[in-house]
Amino acid sequence: MRIFKEGFRQEHKSKINEYKNSWRKKNPDLRREYDNRRRARQLNQMGDVPAGFHQQLFVKQKGKCHYCTNVLDSSYHLDHKIPLCRGGLHDKSNLCLSCAGCNLRKNRRTEEEFITLINGENTGEERDGQMIGQKTNSNSKM
Ligand SMILES: [Zn+2]
Repeated sequence: MRIFKEGFRQEHKSKINEYKNSWRKKNPDLRREYDNRRRARQLNQMGDVPAGFHQQLFVKQKGKCHYCTNVLDSSYHLDHKIPLCRGGLHDKSNLCLSCAGCNLRKNRRTEEEFITLINGENTGEERDGQMIGQKTNSNSKM
């Protein structure tokens, strides 16, 4: 009897995991929102985010990244302008959509810091490759 129950539980468990995985695949947006909420709640920084807010943002931003204005694909990120780790809230006023690249580069920067960084790059102040430490070794002893 016991063995039967154990077997049933195992089978049941894998069914649940199967269901969870397929749900995650079908609902990447909801999963993102769910993950963000959980993270914010853990940090006690839960603000007001209406259901389906990222979809409203998507329309508002015309499907483009908030930072680089590249067209967003399905791997876009919900970005906290002021990161949670810097005391930002998970709140509609602090959220935007960004491409994965910008979100990863932005990391712990605030919106302001990141925009400054991007603008700095666009002004073309990069120095042309300077030759550093090219020593001519002419005093070799024989
Ligand atoms: Zn971007």
